[in-house]
Amino acid sequence: ASNSNKQLFQAEPELLANSVTVLKKRYLRKKESGQIESPKDLFIRVAKNIAEAELKFDSNADVDSVADIFYNQMASLKFLPNSPTLMNAGNSLQQLSACFVLPVEDSLEGIFEAVKHTALIHKSGGGTGFSFSRLRPKDDTVKTTKGVSSGPVSFMSVFDAATETIKQGGMRRGANMGILRVDHPDIMEFIYAKQDKTKLTNFNLSVGITEEFMKSVKNGTEYDILTPRDRKKTGSKNAKEVFNEMVRLAWEGGDPGIIFLDRINNTNPTPAEGEMESTNPCGEQPLLPYESCNLGSINLVKFVKNGKIDWDDLRNTCNIAVRFLDNVIEMNNYPIKQIDEMTKKNRKIGLGIMGWADMLVMLNIPYNSDKATLLAEEVMKFIRDEGRKMSVELAEKRGSFPSFDKSIYPALGFKAMRNATITTIAPTGTISIIAGASSGIEPYFALAYYRNVMDNNKLPEVNPYFLEKAHESKFYSESLMNKLADAGNAHDLTEVPEDIRKVFVTSHEIEPVWHVKMQAAFQKYTDNAVSKTVNFQNTATIEDVEKAYMLAYDLGCKGITIYRDGSRLGQVLNIGSVK
Ligand code: UDP
Repeated sequence: ASNSNKQLFQAEPELLANSVTVLKKRYLRKKESGQIESPKDLFIRVAKNIAEAELKFDSNADVDSVADIFYNQMASLKFLPNSPTLMNAGNSLQQLSACFVLPVEDSLEGIFEAVKHTALIHKSGGGTGFSFSRLRPKDDTVKTTKGVSSGPVSFMSVFDAATETIKQGGMRRGANMGILRVDHPDIMEFIYAKQDKTKLTNFNLSVGITEEFMKSVKNGTEYDILTPRDRKKTGSKNAKEVFNEMVRLAWEGGDPGIIFLDRINNTNPTPAEGEMESTNPCGEQPLLPYESCNLGSINLVKFVKNGKIDWDDLRNTCNIAVRFLDNVIEMNNYPIKQIDEMTKKNRKIGLGIMGWADMLVMLNIPYNSDKATLLAEEVMKFIRDEGRKMSVELAEKRGSFPSFDKSIYPALGFKAMRNATITTIAPTGTISIIAGASSGIEPYFALAYYRNVMDNNKLPEVNPYFLEKAHESKFYSESLMNKLADAGNAHDLTEVPEDIRKVFVTSHEIEPVWHVKMQAAFQKYTDNAVSKTVNFQNTATIEDVEKAYMLAYDLGCKGITIYRDGSRLGQVLNIGSVK
């Protein structure tokens, strides 16, 4: 029953020029009339499509009103779902998730089945993660051919080539995560796999770290290497030496990262459904084999009013976002049957945030401060608690996720829960541009840069909050903005008051310790994991990286990804350089 008196989809989307450019490039679709949709049409298309799910639970649902509510959240840029939902909801594809994990079995059939599934997922804009830990090591026997196996690392290049060829129909580049357990016989080859920077370019690599391994690193002892098939001891290695090589290679070029596999499984909400062996490509979403997850992010910028957080409004957005993401599971067209089944057993959703750096400057809090990490905990706890309340409420009407009884929730005192996980912190690489917010929980990379090389009259693009501050505190000048764009940060610009320089701190001025502390603060209240890059200056030492790894472990992070400035070929962003 729709409310015909009500005017729907009234508000115009609050988009910046930049956002419109991104939308035009990849998100706006051709309508049946042949016309290209407007950004407003896009949000209406997504809102209507996702609201349709309401009818599955209530044949009298007021779908139009729900669609209007969803529309208003998106058009006001308070909440955006992950890119595949924006691109595909209400279109023939209807594949709405960003994250998938596929099993790779130890047989040629199994491996190429996974390659085929990867192709289908990449075509629709999703990213895939795999554990290659089940594959027999290099030079192991192959019964049927009496030959030898080429090993996990060699098979990874098949997946890499498939990704390269598909390029996701031009919409989005395919991305993969490759994981190998640290106790796999081929672990050293895996650690070196991306040393040649032209190899495995569509993969992020992470070593799957066990608790036993970390203990051995701390005690300086050997750990067991196990056969993948029956997990029998086949050798041992010095843990510290392996650890040092991982750290050195990460220092050299960013890969491999590490994920704490045992820790991830200790917080597995549905242990009866299987073990988690991999995450999605950017590391924020551990999943069971054949599980998928759809993400969505709240733009914190929209909840700062008069220098304060509007908690009531944030609560309202959390509620709507959880309902939206649960509806996405219903409306999703899964690329293969196994994913459909597995995803609907646990109904995981990943609600996160973007605009964290923006929120901090709006509240005059430096990123590298205890005040900031405490606020991170407060904000994330609020989102998780409110998200859970909403998931319980949905469960009362729609039913709990089917594997609820055997999940961790009954023992935690929950009588019902709609979703096995609620929170994930995504990188928000594209949706943060659409929202005009800083990405995920990352600090600012630079406060200003030159946009166009070709333009002689190059005008620096300055962080809007800094610009506002510059006018307000009367230190604005054109020459200062040019200096800011040259340096990328305000660190040495004495024209800027010191307290303002402290608040507008950028990535490379922030000690790696603070990057890790921030990740850990958010992880504390995140069911899944947190996407974060710990940035190092070019001059950082291998020991600095090692310290960050240990700190991430000690503070309860689920993994760590580092990047040392200038260490990778063709680095995309460069502070102070002309883009
Ligand atoms: N992803 C992908 N290809 C891309 C970017 C992202 O497959 O080019 C997947 C990947 O699983 C990643 C997830 O989408 O971890 C979320 O990325 P992000 O938050 O940056 O996506 P957005 O929704 O902003 O496009």
